[in-house]
Amino acid sequence: MIATVCLLVVLAALFVLALHRLAPPAPVPLAPLAERIDALLPQTQCGQCNFAGCRPYAQAIAAGEADIDQCPPGGTAGVRELARLLGREPKPLNPTHGRETPRAVALIDEAVCIGCTKCIQFCPVDAILGAPQVMHSVIADECTGCGLCVAPCPVDCISLPPALSPVASLAVAQAGLRSA
Ligand code: SF4
Ligand code: SF4
Ligand code: SF4
Repeated sequence: MIATVCLLVVLAALFVLALHRLAPPAPVPLAPLAERIDALLPQTQCGQCNFAGCRPYAQAIAAGEADIDQCPPGGTAGVRELARLLGREPKPLNPTHGRETPRAVALIDEAVCIGCTKCIQFCPVDAILGAPQVMHSVIADECTGCGLCVAPCPVDCISLPPALSPVASLAVAQAGLRSA
């Protein structure tokens, strides 16, 4: 009796093994929808969509809890990309979330900065360099232009001029070298 049971167990195990070998390999799962939506968002982390950053907004869209027209930094082109991914009709940006504007980069007037570090605490991407009582400056390549550092500055020394194109940046740098 015990021998029969053992034989049945072994046969069942062999059967399962054979099925496993014959089965086609499992397809590589697609990235979750929220990941694919997040990849289309501009990663400015500004919160204008009414969420605490791009990823939460992506998760809300994937869950059907937010519309695709809430991201001003992504602009009309961004809405179009989201619509394409989700198989929906494109639509205009919802103006209650803000206007589409050219990309900006924060600029700190270092002569006025008092080194209070408040701006650092609000920057979502660690684009501000500085220490207590030391003037602060922005790492332009890291700054997303979200503007979250502007209001907390007690001496109003942060501005948000439009980002220069690479060619314009080079011209400014060359002009600086010539005048040095
Ligand atoms: S508005 Fe756009 S860029 Fe800003 S946090 Fe929301 S999804 Fe990100
Ligand atoms: S430096 Fe200011 S504008 Fe730039 S990413 Fe940080 S908080 Fe946003
Ligand atoms: S908040 Fe304003 S004053 Fe304070 S460190 Fe930042 S730039 Fe300087």
